[in-house]
Amino acid sequence: MHLKVADTSVCATKCREEFGNPCQHFCPASVYEMVPDEARPGALKLHINASNCVHCKTCDIADPYQIITWVTPEGGGGPNYRQL
Ligand code: SF4
Repeated sequence: MHLKVADTSVCATKCREEFGNPCQHFCPASVYEMVPDEARPGALKLHINASNCVHCKTCDIADPYQIITWVTPEGGGGPNYRQL
């Protein structure tokens, strides 16, 4: 996973209340989605569709709590696949 969210409980609580989860809107590729949390009726949790990512880095900059870290997907000796 090349997208790291340091604390997803912030997404479900503070960010939802204070900012309405802007990651769902600023990401051009719909990577971030708030989905129903089966464990907590009525609550939402963050779901990350990492494979949609187009590596624009917007989330690294635009997230209001700076808890999203985008790291270059080629790092770390994984398979060296091509995007697109
Ligand atoms: S880098 Fe861009 S495309 Fe990828 S998750 Fe972040 S905002 Fe979305």
